[in-house]
Amino acid sequence: MKHIVVVEDEEMMREELQGILEKAGYLVSEITEFTGVAEQLLKISPDLVLLDLNLPNSSGFFICQEVKRKSAIPVFVLTSRDQLCDELAALDLGADEYLTKPCKKERLLARILNVLKRFEGRSNLLEGGGFLLDRQTYTLYIHNRSVVLPQNQGKILEVFLTEPDAVVSKEDLFTALWGTTEFIDENALQVNLTRLKKTMAKLGMDWQIVSVRGIGYRLDKKSGEV
Ligand code: CA
Repeated sequence: MKHIVVVEDEEMMREELQGILEKAGYLVSEITEFTGVAEQLLKISPDLVLLDLNLPNSSGFFICQEVKRKSAIPVFVLTSRDQLCDELAALDLGADEYLTKPCKKERLLARILNVLKRFEGRSNLLEGGGFLLDRQTYTLYIHNRSVVLPQNQGKILEVFLTEPDAVVSKEDLFTALWGTTEFIDENALQVNLTRLKKTMAKLGMDWQIVSVRGIGYRLDKKSGEV
């Protein structure tokens, strides 16, 4: 059963959507607290997010951007706004589908099904900005090719992608690689980092691992690249 989260502040509309979706066989959750919506969505990790743009406290545009940056969850924007610039802005932020309300429920359901089909089997994928990482197989999808990373390199990259803006500490990496920070062997970590850096360079990735003195490491967009 596919899980859909409805982000809609108008209660009537929210309940109507829930009814339509449940009748169509989906498991439906609702967001009713409109602060930290992106975090809530990432935590729930549904198969699809149905997102209104006009929301209290935060804008749907921002939520869409956050969810797309940190996950491969499809975002379906459903809004009463009907201006072209809004549609373009939503698509620009990575929305996967866009529909203005009111709309026929048959059309809504057909479009949802379509998006879900497009994303079939992609729930394990982490979005990296120009590349994707399957966190189960450590397959890296980049420049229309796929490469299976050695497990340790995949684990390191996974840590970076789940904390895209943060500096990753050595302890985080130790825990990801060896499940403990107890017997810290700096060299073993360096060897794995060096291997991953080489792999990334070989694949022509726009990203590089840089060290942040005294704290750890960060994934940085290479300078000079778009
Ligand atoms: Ca609204």
